[in-house]
Amino acid sequence: MLKCTSCEREYSLRNAYQRCECGEPLELELFKSVPGIGRRVWERFSGFFPFELRPELSLGEGDTPLTKAKKLSRELGVKLYLKNETLNPTWSFKDRGTYLGIHRALQLGFKKIGTVSTGNMAASVAAYGARAGLETYVLVSSDIAEEKLKALALYGARIIKVQGDYGEIYYKSLKIGREKGIYFINSDDPFRVEGYKSMSFEIIEEVTPDYVVVPTSSGGLFRGIVKGFLELKESGLIEELPCFVVVQAEGCSPICKAFNGGKEKIERFENPHTIAHAIENPYPPSGNGVLRLLRGLKGLCVTVSDEEILEAQRELGREGLFVQPASATGIAAIRKLREKGIIEDGKIKENSRVVSILTGSGLKTLSHVERGRIKECWLEELEECLGYR
Ligand SMILES: *Cc1c(COP(=O)(O)O)cnc(C)c1O
Ligand SMILES: [Zn+2]
Repeated sequence: MLKCTSCEREYSLRNAYQRCECGEPLELELFKSVPGIGRRVWERFSGFFPFELRPELSLGEGDTPLTKAKKLSRELGVKLYLKNETLNPTWSFKDRGTYLGIHRALQLGFKKIGTVSTGNMAASVAAYGARAGLETYVLVSSDIAEEKLKALALYGARIIKVQGDYGEIYYKSLKIGREKGIYFINSDDPFRVEGYKSMSFEIIEEVTPDYVVVPTSSGGLFRGIVKGFLELKESGLIEELPCFVVVQAEGCSPICKAFNGGKEKIERFENPHTIAHAIENPYPPSGNGVLRLLRGLKGLCVTVSDEEILEAQRELGREGLFVQPASATGIAAIRKLREKGIIEDGKIKENSRVVSILTGSGLKTLSHVERGRIKECWLEELEECLGYR
């Protein structure tokens, strides 16, 4: 059964329902199970997923490292763990959700899949569509950068540049997809969200966090991570939930604006602008769903500036990790929550265990990265040059 996250109306799993008639996202019930043994998260936590997962559809997503950040931990006064999602097959966490989404499309008998994205999700769906041998449609906005298009073409996806309101494409694709036999695995598809849960399971295998910090755009990732922890609690595998922290860029923060302003619903964020393009959705389809979770679980919502984001990106580089700007927002948010707190009581306490999700690789967004200082040297002078600082 699929259930609305707002009005609780129920929908049969036999049909390709993705959203409630009330407009809000649907989700599967909370799974309760016991973990087993296995090399992959999909095997160890098989009882928590809605179907048997097929290895032949996998590209090796998940089971990413949780790296303890030495310098940043010391500097920020917390025990900081970095969930390195840049190591997924298409270099972002989107692969976990796409993997589940493909199963759903095949379960319903679809021969074609699609997505609406300009970045990481497009690459992910194109790759998994190729792997499964499905015809794959990617709807991109008309101002997409050439570089991003190239990666998609290589996977053999059919790319359609759409003129018009980008937010509208999301809803229209779901409607037209059903008519045309294309299963659109969009940002907050209920099964995509199921895939994202796997991150929570992996985290809990290594550490019981006090805080989990999540860069948020559509809200699919946040919903998945929270659902994972709720299932762990229901199953008696953890006693307490961590405090969940949504991070958005100041230049596009519809969820934080609504949450911190005490609003029931999000509003479209006008003139969005941020360096963190992967989290630049001005009207997130799971925005209200995220608001409900934040309120129900006493979470926090933090915004960070482009300057703070770029600084955090450099700091992660000093830990040996190259992430894209959207993925560095978590570190900027933790610094903010350590220094000031954003609300009374919102301060992260010293020595807390904090997990920050590094959502995607920096190699995908090279254009803004500074070249740094480089010394030119003649071969004859190499000895002296190596002494340079
Ligand atoms: C998609 C994405 C996010 C945000 O995920 P949502 O599910 O849209 O909230 C964050 N960082 C990166 C790198 C992403 O690709
Ligand atoms: Zn509803």
